[in-house]
Amino acid sequence: MTKFYEVRKRDGAARLGRLLIGGAAVETPLLLSVEAVRSGDAPVLPAGAVTEGGNADTDKLLVYDVGELPAGWAAARGVVVLPETHPLAFDARDVKADLYVVGYAPRLLTSSRRLVAEIIRLRENIPPDAALYVPAVATPANVAFLIYMGVDVVDDAAAVLKGYEDVYLTDYGELRLSELENFPCCCEVCTSLSPAELRGLGKRERAELLAKHNSLALKAEVERVRERIRSEMLREYVELRVRTSPFLTAALRILDGEETYLEKRTPVARRSPLLANTMESLRRIEVKRFAARVVKRYTPPHRKVLLLLPCSARKPYSQSQSHRKFISAISEFRGHIHEVIITSPLGVVPRELEAVYPAAFYDVPVTGYWDAEERSWVGSCIEAYLRKNLIERGLYEHVVVHLGGGALEIFKGVAEKLGLEAFYTCGDGKEETAKRALERLRSCISELCAEKLPDKDAKANMIRAMADYQFGSGVGDVLLEGAEIEIKGKYPAYKVVSGGEALAEVAPEYGLLRLSLSGALRLHNSGFRAYEVRLNYVPRAKSAVLAPAVEDADPQIRVNDEVLLKDADGNLVGVGRAKMSGWEMVAAERGVAVEVRAVR
Ligand SMILES: [Zn+2]
Repeated sequence: MTKFYEVRKRDGAARLGRLLIGGAAVETPLLLSVEAVRSGDAPVLPAGAVTEGGNADTDKLLVYDVGELPAGWAAARGVVVLPETHPLAFDARDVKADLYVVGYAPRLLTSSRRLVAEIIRLRENIPPDAALYVPAVATPANVAFLIYMGVDVVDDAAAVLKGYEDVYLTDYGELRLSELENFPCCCEVCTSLSPAELRGLGKRERAELLAKHNSLALKAEVERVRERIRSEMLREYVELRVRTSPFLTAALRILDGEETYLEKRTPVARRSPLLANTMESLRRIEVKRFAARVVKRYTPPHRKVLLLLPCSARKPYSQSQSHRKFISAISEFRGHIHEVIITSPLGVVPRELEAVYPAAFYDVPVTGYWDAEERSWVGSCIEAYLRKNLIERGLYEHVVVHLGGGALEIFKGVAEKLGLEAFYTCGDGKEETAKRALERLRSCISELCAEKLPDKDAKANMIRAMADYQFGSGVGDVLLEGAEIEIKGKYPAYKVVSGGEALAEVAPEYGLLRLSLSGALRLHNSGFRAYEVRLNYVPRAKSAVLAPAVEDADPQIRVNDEVLLKDADGNLVGVGRAKMSGWEMVAAERGVAVEVRAVR
């Protein structure tokens, strides 16, 4: 609980926020200058630097040692959190502040594991709407990762110090001044002289100029990171940045193992594409979450033939040239067939889920080569799908595999493990869209299905699958129950209508269903109690619900989830889109929790 810090936007654990200091707002991620701190010009100062009585009316955020925290709380204030091993260490949960400063922070850089573990421990022990300041650690190479982990404030102390050690910092690592022939930078220092000229200067002047460049390089990187958070692409940027050092690459891999920490901070959908360019992309929360929901929440339609197809660059797949060819080859029999796409890094994408996030929003480099990690991950997804739906549920009579190359090899490995028989229609497996392969697909399908049967349920199946994927198993049936249900609109922007009243529509820009008030009421009346937010007042339509108004919220709610708004007695009062995770709405004292769409 804090009074003077507010998170405005999130991208995973990273945030854009603002600290309210002396009536003015300071944006985070914030880079403090040690020079400004020393001269008293920085917005954040050690409390000892200010003469007595300076707390209540200061225009600075003062940082106290824990024993010195003043009792009143009329201005933004910070507190230094000591390492657990320090004799004066205290539990950060016992102290309320707007900013928490990590004491002796450079020790975090002694190992990747320590850095990740300590930041997570701190972040989990302080309020979500408090800022975390890690001093004397940031460099242009590591600051993206620090902010990605949830650090809100850094300074240029380490960058300045490096200047005094004749080290020239770049966003890809450290260079020795003695090694440089040209400066790979356009800052005011680097454009004013050459490395040789800089080497010719006296120690002090040289150090000051190097320190200035290092600070400017850090500042530029912090600006890039802010911009990446704004465009919801920080993860892709961090995967790129950590490549410059084994320490940071190891730290990202360790962080990716901390699924709980990242999962509860990762939005359910984003507007930006998911670019799976590195090995670490396979371990992203969005990828793991999608695979888990396909197995846990999704129920395939009962069909005679399971048809496995390759992915396409264009999304949703059915809009691609290759998928148009597949669909035209099987169209007369489509009512017998369940189409499932095999792809990296998502694994298994049922046709009905091709428009959800991230299935319609990812891109991956395609070379035909699948590395061992990809094979093992995608193979595990195929295996889980077949075990549940083919072996346990017995949904299909036949499996037709229209895959080539690496995807085919992966499938064959799984089939061998499970003792499955399948029909392979790609011949030598090289070109799934070749005329001969399509012919083989057509004749295999017509032989297995015998009778023609167009797919009349495609639209309803898509809505049902999307609802189950988003809200949980069985919710799709509730939404589509009744003879009056119609599905209108053009793919993929379908709208579910009952007796002239809209219940829900596909929001293609997010790959999620958007509920109307009638749709929310239908779910509520059926006994559906998940994704609810209990409020202490009745909001107005198109307004924003602020965190203090939230009494309780379903902990599985993530940013961009559709949520049902309830009053204290549990009556449905409205519907909206979450702007915070459910746990954060409950814990936070500031910030927008839900954007209200409609109220009763
Ligand atoms: Zn420079």
